[in-house]
Amino acid sequence: MSDFIPPAKPIIGDEEREAVDRVLRSGMVAQGPEVAAFEKEFSEHFVQGRPVVAVNSGTAGLHLGLLAAGVGPGDEVIVPSFTFAATGNSVALTGATPVFADIEPDTFTLDPASVEASITSRTKGIMPVHLYGHPARMRELQSIADEHGIALYEDAAQAHGAALDGRPVGTFGAFAMFSLYPTKNMTSGEGGMISAATEEIARGARLLRNQGMERQYENEVIGFNARMTDIHAAIGRVQLTKVDAWTAARQSNAAFLDANLRGVVVPPVMPGAVHVYHQYTIRVADDRDGFVRALKEEHNIGSGVYYPIPNHRLPSLAHYAVELDLPTTETAAREVVSLPVHPSLSTDDLERIVGAVNAVAGAGA
Ligand SMILES: *Cc1c(COP(=O)(O)O)cnc(C)c1O
Repeated sequence: MSDFIPPAKPIIGDEEREAVDRVLRSGMVAQGPEVAAFEKEFSEHFVQGRPVVAVNSGTAGLHLGLLAAGVGPGDEVIVPSFTFAATGNSVALTGATPVFADIEPDTFTLDPASVEASITSRTKGIMPVHLYGHPARMRELQSIADEHGIALYEDAAQAHGAALDGRPVGTFGAFAMFSLYPTKNMTSGEGGMISAATEEIARGARLLRNQGMERQYENEVIGFNARMTDIHAAIGRVQLTKVDAWTAARQSNAAFLDANLRGVVVPPVMPGAVHVYHQYTIRVADDRDGFVRALKEEHNIGSGVYYPIPNHRLPSLAHYAVELDLPTTETAAREVVSLPVHPSLSTDDLERIVGAVNAVAGAGA
């Protein structure tokens, strides 16, 4: 059988290895000049110079961003249920209540009508997820937020470089978080970036990242150790110089799949949206799990299901969502499959994926 095509493949090159070696040789490996430089470069690259704060994971970024934005016990934050659990978890970790809203069937992102219906007097903010690298409906969500005097936050974990109407994701919310986990569009090993709308929120996140200290041993608030190391920042800085080419490769791989797949629903792109294809996610209405198995067993092609269980039904989060009915979320969880779209795919790989998907989808029909 032909070689296995993995569903994701982090790319780490000699430059990353050399950068790590440079930091190790310097003898200073904790948060320092590399982190400061990474923050500045990341900010200019993705979020038009907004203040950014590097932390040791995307999850920490969401948690600290929410805390810095003033979210806490008694508050509600509206989140999608169709996402990675870290979205709702981070709200719960602040002591606030995650309120799960439904998604739209086309983009898999928050449905503004469901958000509107979920607003109560306790709602502090709305946190859409730019799922799979496609921007959420920020215009509509912004007007709902404005109308109710509540905040917008962004889970941009999967969406480095995505944009809507010429405006990059990560510049809409009071804060936004980008993940730097290895399977994301770029990595620092582990890590996260908080992009803040104000210097005040950025300062809050910086304090929380470092035991509540701006000056050594003058702890102003109770904080965490969520610092990024210079070793990780050095990797991230190199990846930042490569990510645009990788995104372009993802987009061209997606265009090839769009043009050639038959018998499955390919991912639509909203007018005005730039999709960065963290995942290329199709719908298979009939026997999705059989489809995934056939791709693997008959064609040696990996795929992923993100996410098979809606967050409002996870054992960890379900108590926040008693008797909640989210039909579009349920259907998506049953039907989605993400095909390989990563920048390491060759033309041969892409042709194999198309041939396999069309054969399996055709056989099932
Ligand atoms: C990856 C991810 C996170 C968490 O980021 P980590 O860096 O893994 O902590 C949060 N939300 C979404 C949507 C993600 O995909």
